Amino acid sequence: MKSFHKSPWLIHYDASSCNGCDIEVLACTMPRYDVERFGIINTGNPMHADIFCVTGGVNTQNAPIVKQIYDQIPEPKVVLAVGTCACTGGIFKECYNILGGVDQVIPVDVYVPGCAARPESIIDGVVKALALYQEKHDKMVQEGRGLPEDPSLDEDNDVDENASNDDNSSDENASDEENAS
Ligand code: SF4
Repeated sequence: MKSFHKSPWLIHYDASSCNGCDIEVLACTMPRYDVERFGIINTGNPMHADIFCVTGGVNTQNAPIVKQIYDQIPEPKVVLAVGTCACTGGIFKECYNILGGVDQVIPVDVYVPGCAARPESIIDGVVKALALYQEKHDKMVQEGRGLPEDPSLDEDNDVDENASNDDNSSDENASDEENAS
């Protein structure tokens, strides 16, 4: 699954954040940190996502939504709790409607503490999430529940594939010339 390392897709959900952590998540996609150069894309569709990134603590109103988004993400998937609120409920923990951290509703794989979490920490968390994703993927393949790695996605094979494409295209050109004559 080498292609995944090049292009993990992430869906970001603001549970009940003060927006501090959300701004830091967005900062990761801006030119200064520019995670898109690694192929990390912030998608709005859970069915296209590999990583579920949640900011803010979970409250009674959004808990079903967090669960619904989690359920819509295909396996394997990893969950990233970004910021102290997402990890534990943070400064909102004692509020009447706050259930606590994201792990009160769904399993969390990586915790990124901080108020607000720094972009460097968030990127570090994504890298850790990718390693866990690979483990989950490999386990699924062993259990016969997932697709094995596609050897054509290997960089070494890309070269061979291009070479064979060139061969095919030159054959095609040759046959075109024969047909023309
Ligand atoms: S951890 Fe801090 S910055 Fe992030 S949502 Fe909570 S209060 Fe806001």
